[in-house]
Amino acid sequence: MKSKVAVIKCDSYDLNKVYDAISRAIELIGGIENLIPKTDKILLKPNILNKANPKKAVTTHPAVFESVIKILQEKGYKNCFYGDSPGNPMSPEKIAEVCGLKQIGDKYNLTFGDFNHGKTYTFSEGKFTKRFELSNAALEADSIINICKMKTHALMRITGAVKNTLGCVYAFNKAMSHSKFPNTDDFGKMIVDLSRCLNPKLHIMDGILAMEGNGPFSGDPVPMNVIIVSTDPVALDSIFCRLVDVEPTSVPSIKYGEEFGLGVWKEEDIEVVGDYSDDLINKNFKVSKEPLNADKWQNLALLRSFFIKKPVIIKDKCVKCGACVEACPIKDPNGQNSTEYKKNIALYFNNENNNESKEKETPVYNYKNCIRCYCCQEMCPAKAIEVKTPLLGKLFIYR
Ligand code: SF4
Ligand code: SF4
Repeated sequence: MKSKVAVIKCDSYDLNKVYDAISRAIELIGGIENLIPKTDKILLKPNILNKANPKKAVTTHPAVFESVIKILQEKGYKNCFYGDSPGNPMSPEKIAEVCGLKQIGDKYNLTFGDFNHGKTYTFSEGKFTKRFELSNAALEADSIINICKMKTHALMRITGAVKNTLGCVYAFNKAMSHSKFPNTDDFGKMIVDLSRCLNPKLHIMDGILAMEGNGPFSGDPVPMNVIIVSTDPVALDSIFCRLVDVEPTSVPSIKYGEEFGLGVWKEEDIEVVGDYSDDLINKNFKVSKEPLNADKWQNLALLRSFFIKKPVIIKDKCVKCGACVEACPIKDPNGQNSTEYKKNIALYFNNENNNESKEKETPVYNYKNCIRCYCCQEMCPAKAIEVKTPLLGKLFIYR
């Protein structure tokens, strides 16, 4: 049987329009009652990456979140809660407040789940990864509804339905998963197993205002005017790719998503319902179109600085807040006092231990240790980190 994906046009965050679009999409793929028992405790998992006004398209829009809650409450689902584990060390609930989501949760009496604590969960069916540090919120839920955002991502090309499950890993373990799986391929396989393990029953993508360019935090909002809904996260993400003219197999979570049995990506295996038409395709959407195997160059230790892309700080924009240094998963196990400290890590303040310097300088990269996970770029509040490709890389790899 084909995977069904509903694509519904929606050109604004007017609550009534968004509610109608999501209701219609859910009905087209079979109705909520046929997917989730009414007695389930349901975790609503929006994208709450970092502090940002909803107009920036960083996080799931409050109108999308509110529409999902309204639909569930009207259908008699009484036991819902919500949350996400952001990459930022601030309290997840405080970040949700800045993004306008906590206000909606409060309005409908939904509690924020525990994303600060959790435990190691063994997933014996994992094809590549069998252990995950799951948040208590994810462990407590009977069902998850994944309310993801349509955005670009420096490491994974796009972040959509499959990638959004990473927020069910608690606290700094989320960033540390990059150091455990330092290349794109392995990170993609891990994400697919995580998504298989959590098995959200429904995926709803906010693609009304998407993010292109330097995503998932520092990119630019661009209207794509769609809500996309499916029970198959791989099929949903592949439709996202179709809408922004990206080859689905260049996205590791799509390629391994099908190989590991999470879902399907080929056109002939997907039934698209609703308002889909070629008019919705944006061929100018700014997104990395590099092939998946471009990352194999990361293994060429001596040559990689000349070839592979890397994060670069734009000094004029940097406000020296240190969020990037904090977010970087490459830490020295012996701490900052080790004499080898700067040799062992990937990003640091050069004058950090210099008592005479009154002010911090712009952080400095040690590219030898940098695994190109781009957590630093994700967390920079000043859009001061860009991903740049050296000339030789442009000529030979990322063509
Ligand atoms: S690069 Fe960004 S995150 Fe890092 S110190 Fe500068 S402003 Fe802060
Ligand atoms: S410096 Fe940035 S890209 Fe490199 S490992 Fe640290 S967080 Fe990842």
